[in-house]
Amino acid sequence: MVEVDLHLHTTFSDGTLSPTNLLEMCVRKGLRVICISDHDTTNGLEETFAAGSAYPELVIIPGIELSTDVPGSEIHILGYFIDYLNNDLQQILSKFREGREDRAIGMVRKLNEMGLEISWERVKEIAGDASIGRPHIAQAIVEKGYVQYPKDAFDKYIGREGPAYVERMKLTPSDAVKMLVKYGGIPVMAHPTYSEAKSDREGVKSLREILGELKDVGLMGMEVYYGDYTEDQIAYLKNLSDEFDLIPCGGSDYHASGNPGEPEPGSVGPPLSSYNALVEARDRLH
Ligand code: AMP
Ligand code: ZN
Ligand code: FE
Ligand code: FE
Repeated sequence: MVEVDLHLHTTFSDGTLSPTNLLEMCVRKGLRVICISDHDTTNGLEETFAAGSAYPELVIIPGIELSTDVPGSEIHILGYFIDYLNNDLQQILSKFREGREDRAIGMVRKLNEMGLEISWERVKEIAGDASIGRPHIAQAIVEKGYVQYPKDAFDKYIGREGPAYVERMKLTPSDAVKMLVKYGGIPVMAHPTYSEAKSDREGVKSLREILGELKDVGLMGMEVYYGDYTEDQIAYLKNLSDEFDLIPCGGSDYHASGNPGEPEPGSVGPPLSSYNALVEARDRLH
């Protein structure tokens, strides 16, 4: 087991554990440093830090994960130590979440056109106040018995190539990196290569070229120790992170998704030295 997990989702986006329950699990698994990195929202951080006061030895990094688009696929950028109390940042994030909601409505409409009886009301109910995402729709599809596991809903309907997929609002990776830097976040490229557990997730195309571009606008790290990555994938990414002088980060990307074999908090993550490097980067940036 590892001591650092820098990629975790809660009910404030598409995870199914509240920050309080997730923290309890992280402590039970022996983690010492974690980051809550919900999609396009920092709304879970208030509860996270309140719950964290029960575990004074646990270090909690405030974080976020932004979804960005490149032709034909997407790239996620994590932001560590983001200044989440900034009002301008919060206004931008609420726009992103409105875009997510419009897109989810579009996907439900397509599912309905295909004859699936998924109601928007039910999807909204599942999401609650969260930053809505495809896993919420997947859950509604599972509930109705159309598929067994959420990941099957991606394979069959809402994966990138699926018949009910709808594109999101456009944000480029370089805009996301610049935005994070502006609000004090250390920008880190998430899951740069193929993940077996997420069927619609291919590797970032032209990765070297994109890393070069993003490094020029402020990228400081990339995920290396991630999810279900194999030893070979980790070795490949570790070399790349050295080549581009990026902090090797990572974590489980735990969602408590209900998919079989999902990597759990503490099962994968970077060494403590990566956390120390992030703190140094933060001190330079802030
Ligand atoms: P969204 O942000 O709405 O595009 O949804 C993306 C999220 O869906 C990712 O962060 C994953 O948690 C989840 N996801 C993507 N592909 C899959 C998959 N094939 N199986 C299960 N979950 C997936
Ligand atoms: Zn997610
Ligand atoms: Fe992601
Ligand atoms: Fe994630």
